[in-house]
Amino acid sequence: MVEELPPQCSAKGCRAPAAWQLLWNNPKLHTPEYRKTWLACPDHRVSLGAFLEARSFLREVTPFVSSEDARIS
Ligand SMILES: [Zn+2]
Repeated sequence: MVEELPPQCSAKGCRAPAAWQLLWNNPKLHTPEYRKTWLACPDHRVSLGAFLEARSFLREVTPFVSSEDARIS
């Protein structure tokens, strides 16, 4: 679960600050323009990205700049 306080990596059990945001879409659940956002630390960017990519959900990976930029969902 993503908490309210400092933006952290979305990987399970990881408390590292987010450095990347992974934007993804599950066509079975979401409209095509909808984007879910996962945050990732440098260590988990690859593993989280691979998880999404394996399901063809990954749309974009961008540097995480500030929490105001992220629509955490
Ligand atoms: Zn992490």
